[in-house]
Amino acid sequence: MRRNLLLSLTLLLLASCGQGKDYYQKNNKIKNVVFIIGDGMGPQQISLLQLYAKHAKESLYNGQKTNLEKLMAIGETGLVMTNPGKKLVVDSSCSATQYATGEYSLPEVVGIDDNGESTETILEAAKKAGLRTGLVSDVRITHATPASYAAHNISRGNENDIAQEMLSVGPDVMLSGGLRHFIPKSALSNKSLRSQVPSHIKLKSKRKDDVNLINKAQKDGYEVLFDKLSLNKSTSKKVLGLFTNSAMPNGIWHTQNKDKADRVIPTLSEMTSFALKNLENSSNGFFLMVEAGQIDWAGHANDTGLMLHEMLRADEMLGVVLNWVKDRDDTLVIVTADHETGGFGFSYNGFNVERAEKVSNKMFKDGVYKSKFNYGDFSTLDKLYKQTKSNANILREVSKWSPEKRTIPNIKNLFESYTQYKYSSKDISEIMHSSKNKFFKKGHSYLGAEKFPTITDFSSFYIYGERIRSNIVARVLAHQQNTVWATATHTSTPVTMVTVGPASLTKEFDGMMHSTEVGRKTFKALGLKKEFKSVIK
Ligand code: MG
Ligand code: ZN
Repeated sequence: MRRNLLLSLTLLLLASCGQGKDYYQKNNKIKNVVFIIGDGMGPQQISLLQLYAKHAKESLYNGQKTNLEKLMAIGETGLVMTNPGKKLVVDSSCSATQYATGEYSLPEVVGIDDNGESTETILEAAKKAGLRTGLVSDVRITHATPASYAAHNISRGNENDIAQEMLSVGPDVMLSGGLRHFIPKSALSNKSLRSQVPSHIKLKSKRKDDVNLINKAQKDGYEVLFDKLSLNKSTSKKVLGLFTNSAMPNGIWHTQNKDKADRVIPTLSEMTSFALKNLENSSNGFFLMVEAGQIDWAGHANDTGLMLHEMLRADEMLGVVLNWVKDRDDTLVIVTADHETGGFGFSYNGFNVERAEKVSNKMFKDGVYKSKFNYGDFSTLDKLYKQTKSNANILREVSKWSPEKRTIPNIKNLFESYTQYKYSSKDISEIMHSSKNKFFKKGHSYLGAEKFPTITDFSSFYIYGERIRSNIVARVLAHQQNTVWATATHTSTPVTMVTVGPASLTKEFDGMMHSTEVGRKTFKALGLKKEFKSVIK
């Protein structure tokens, strides 16, 4: 009897340890960390993906779970507060710095704590300890999120200096856009550079000097790549891939081009897959940060259709990570966000209400159901998917037109050609209207314009000049789409965090915590030491 009890206990223990994962019960130490940041991917953005996946008539998921859901099913799910130490709401560089360093940071700085001191990032600590390191982003490599892992700068805007510093820190793999910060100001007339960089990439430098960081990278042992084909062929250990002059293309481009054989720009999934394969051959392990960076940009623009495409691109990348990690027991994967962007939500309203819908006649007379309000139709999800150009790019097209062409009927036709919605002439006038910028600040990079597109409510949250027109598009479509947006900036919503790895480790990430604590736990998971200064609240 006693022996049977012991036997069952042993069996039970073995079962609970999973497939040989008991190693981690002892030391909680893994070799690799893959840290994924969906920039601006709050729970609201996740709701858009989930609703689309499950309820769009023509859902690409076809009854399958999203990769995010699959990761959740094998891991733990927690919530993260991302606020700075001394402010209510965070920006991307501060938030990434808090994850990367385990210290409170300040908005708009990179790799600096909230006392104003440079502080070591997990990527630097990992490199020092002999781990291999990588950064992947679908924005550009010098942008706030990746920069916060491999640079220390008082302003996220100093991307030329950040490029230089990132090269000195020297992650083994850096894949993104952002060539313009690596090429000399005279790049356009530089024949040798033109012969190296394929013609589909512009050579429009943002540098104020003649420093050629492509040369420097090559001297430092990087293979510098500019297109998908060379990425496919690369077997180098140290790789810098700069696939666009500025940002990489958006999520709608991704949907439209991902299956094209002649595509020259790699996708986020392809860059991630390359980075994992490149870094996995490391006896000491690796640290990799992957950013799905343009969910945030769709959020700033309040562009729901674009945001759906961004979430699809992010989820496709999560599929690559899931496939890579699912049979491993030496890796911790963290999927989280730096903040929510836009205060997005589907919302019920008073437009087109009390429509008769068919239900069973057991409770409802004649089988007719009517709700007092409009709770939104699933057909909206398919319509959002069928948006073929971002609002920002539609408006860019308008801005290139001659003043004579820029008439209300022409603009209305243009919008209707790219989206599944109808616009009234009044809608178009609202979108194109401008008035005095109430928050004018002379010389300010964003608020320095005397006129802004007209937005009447919460106007202090609409700060990005001409881009505000896209926010107005969201306002005029809101009743048809059942969508609301609270702001053109970020909100303080706690973000979702999924951790996949040995259960004894992922359970440490269970519950609600601050991003600095996530950062510290990640250091610990890799066995990296750092003396942390700030007291986490
Ligand atoms: Mg970012
Ligand atoms: Zn943002």
